Amino acid sequence: MTTRRKFLSSAALLSALPFLNKLKAASADTPVKPVVLSTWNFGQGANAEAWKVLAAGGRALDAVEKGVQVPEGDPLETSVGYGGLPDRDGRVTLDSCIMDEAANCGAVACLEHIMHPISVARRVMEKTPHVLLVGDGALQFALAQGFKKENLLTAASEKAWREWLKKAEYKPIANIENHDTIGMVALDQQQNMSGACTTSGMAYKIHGRVGDSPIIGAGLFVDNEIGAATSTGVGEEVIRICGSHLVVELMRQGNSPQEACELAVKRIVKNQPKKSREMQIGFLALSKNGAVGAYALQKGFTYALQTPEIKNQLFEAKSYYA
Ligand code: ASP
Repeated sequence: MTTRRKFLSSAALLSALPFLNKLKAASADTPVKPVVLSTWNFGQGANAEAWKVLAAGGRALDAVEKGVQVPEGDPLETSVGYGGLPDRDGRVTLDSCIMDEAANCGAVACLEHIMHPISVARRVMEKTPHVLLVGDGALQFALAQGFKKENLLTAASEKAWREWLKKAEYKPIANIENHDTIGMVALDQQQNMSGACTTSGMAYKIHGRVGDSPIIGAGLFVDNEIGAATSTGVGEEVIRICGSHLVVELMRQGNSPQEACELAVKRIVKNQPKKSREMQIGFLALSKNGAVGAYALQKGFTYALQTPEIKNQLFEAKSYYA
């Protein structure tokens, strides 16, 4: 997106390395906490909201829900929630999931008309015996839970869709700017971890398409003993490797969060040596000790990090392709 491009050229972009080394050193004996880590530039606004909960000693679960609600409710963010670019039929369909420190999780997929799908996902987790509700069923559940039915297609997103319709080119992997998800993972002062992931998915997708973002283990995974991970980018490829679960399991095997993210991205390259050059996928990981990892296929994957030492700053992840 242009805002992201603009941002990347700005002097404000920091190299993550000195900070991450510091975090690593600290994590050896003294765990860093609280920590909140989230994808893309909009992660900064989301972190700010999450930090209010974390700084007050609240649960990571509440922090991630509150945090990702920020881009969900922002009509100018065209890849999450309200104002999201629609599918090829002009319908805004949302995918979200949430997971807590006790492996409780909830998700909604292809949900329409609800401003904060993450909160519906949380209700699925807390009020039903299920993990994932989809489509009309998810909407009925949301309405029964008291969520309001709203039109999420803004005039700007409708205009962009009508423009797209002129050619209706369906090229989900070529355009690395057409999809961005907010994935957020957090560690609270009690040293519990949670995560949330929410998106309007790939722009102009086939109606009914669901990406990685609401799939526990693909778009998000939390294991309170080890760490948490989340992803953004072409969801189909993340699902194929159970991306976020893979990252956490690689950490369990002794890899640092950074190494785990790199290994997961390399797995995608191995699966798709040609296609991987044309698409973007990024992983973020946070260990139980507060160490952070970030890696992407292509340059330009930004993420926002806040810890007691790092005051909610944006970084650019290292990437496989230069
Ligand atoms: N992962 C999301 C999806 O495939 C979109 C994105 O993050 O770009 O729906």
